[in-house]
Amino acid sequence: MVESEESLALDDTERLVGKSALINNIKTATALAGAVRSTLGPNGLDKMLVSENGEVTVTNDGVTVLEKAKIDHPTAKLLIGASMSQDRAAKDGTTTTILIISEMLQNSLDLIKLGVHPTIIIQGFELALNECLEQIKLHSRKLNETHRNDIIRTVLSGKVDSVLKERLAFLAIEAANNLEYSGNSRDSEKIRVKRLQLKEGTVMDTEIIPGLMIAKTRVDISSNSESNEGRIVILDGGFENEKLEIDTEIEISSPGIMEDFHKRSRDKLEIKIKKLVDEEIDLLIVRDGITDEAISLLTNSGIVAYRRFEREDIELLSLVTGAKICRDISRLNSSDVGNYSRRYEEIISEGKFTTIIGVKNGGMTVAIRGTSPEKRDEVERTFDDALGVASKLSDDSRILPGGGAIQVHLARQLRSFANKHSGREQLAIDAFAASLEIVPRVLAENSGFDPVDTILSLSAEQAKNGPWIGLNIFNGSNEDMEKSGVLEPSLVFRQSIIEATEAVNSVLRIDDILWAKTDITTPDWESEED
Ligand code: ADP
Ligand code: MG
Repeated sequence: MVESEESLALDDTERLVGKSALINNIKTATALAGAVRSTLGPNGLDKMLVSENGEVTVTNDGVTVLEKAKIDHPTAKLLIGASMSQDRAAKDGTTTTILIISEMLQNSLDLIKLGVHPTIIIQGFELALNECLEQIKLHSRKLNETHRNDIIRTVLSGKVDSVLKERLAFLAIEAANNLEYSGNSRDSEKIRVKRLQLKEGTVMDTEIIPGLMIAKTRVDISSNSESNEGRIVILDGGFENEKLEIDTEIEISSPGIMEDFHKRSRDKLEIKIKKLVDEEIDLLIVRDGITDEAISLLTNSGIVAYRRFEREDIELLSLVTGAKICRDISRLNSSDVGNYSRRYEEIISEGKFTTIIGVKNGGMTVAIRGTSPEKRDEVERTFDDALGVASKLSDDSRILPGGGAIQVHLARQLRSFANKHSGREQLAIDAFAASLEIVPRVLAENSGFDPVDTILSLSAEQAKNGPWIGLNIFNGSNEDMEKSGVLEPSLVFRQSIIEATEAVNSVLRIDDILWAKTDITTPDWESEED
């Protein structure tokens, strides 16, 4: 018999079917969750990751651990995908997402062993998820200004050490307060906050500049390096004399024509400069080039000029100075002119930098300092996360209690919700409830408290004083999380459970996996039946 192409292909693979595939997937998920479990919460430990070429990363961030782990397994990829998608959507909650996924998978396996079909589990999980989303709506609170600071501190506590945390929280809050977010905060945020890494100084010198800082110096070194309270024009294009087009060359019959052309072009330049002088401009920013002839004319007229700016940089400058980005100086209007409060140049670690401080909010430069590139990257990443969370809060400003409070509440609520459903779905809803408790359990564990006692006492306390009672991880007591300032944006946890349910359900739907023989991780057949 001639073998079909398909069965030939299957020769090279090993097929894991049904329960074995699921068991294998769940083992992978547990292994992954084990790798990030000890990083959860402010008392979580850092992980030191060493890559093949000896590069070392020290991190307390779940998603960084997983991204660097390079695990080649379909389920691992799914989980890493879920945590990355959590990171993109909410900028936080990645470790939580992984832990919940792993718990949900393990609890599903127990149900499957009892004979519950994956389809029923999937249905039960969806019911449970919807109930959680309702409960979150019900118990989340409206954000106020004090909350914002607490949230940024809570977010940063999972990522950096406490000294750095205070500095970054301060900066991120300052940055967030300075930005007025528009509807499409994601894109505009990129334009408005410039990140600039500087090689001198330590992380603690990282600062926010209410304007543009850029690795450039003025075009004419003989012009002033500093100025205050001036008027600025931003030109989109070049500040140049007109060029003679190459194919007009053959038309030139007498030398006078060339001279004429140069004179006219210089006249035009002078008209432009006169326009700038009339508007009392002392600072000109040009997106493209400035010709030599123009440079000396500008300097003689007391105008300091800079050239070759990126679009993002001139847009930021336009926001903080109020200057409109103009295309043609000869048509310049008074309303196109902006104002700046200070301009200065400095040399930092052999590079030349210019700073232009604006007169308006809406844009800034974060000058990131740190003793090594890795440290600077870490600061930039953390700052981005903090600012990302702050900016997402302006889209959705509901908040939830941290310290395991919301999870303990949801678990309790789900258990009574489960009673309203049929036997098998009820089991799945209970399994969902138990999976959420992984958060308070691991927070307690990482802080040296007994996880079972912690959940029991939190649950009892919540029955008396409501769902905002959570764990004080420093002394083990139960506290009102709003009073303790342990707060999280509601969208972070909401995203975690949506992401987790989706990932788990897609694993439950797979009952057949093909493995390429080249990278088989042979499942541990012996222990899987226990
Ligand atoms: P994730 O990657 O899931 O964000 P983190 O390491 O940042 O993981 O830990 C987040 C968890 O730590 C949340 O459940 C949060 O409520 C909790 N947490 C953060 N700060 C505190 C605190 N001061 N007290 C109690 N719990 C805290
Ligand atoms: Mg976090």
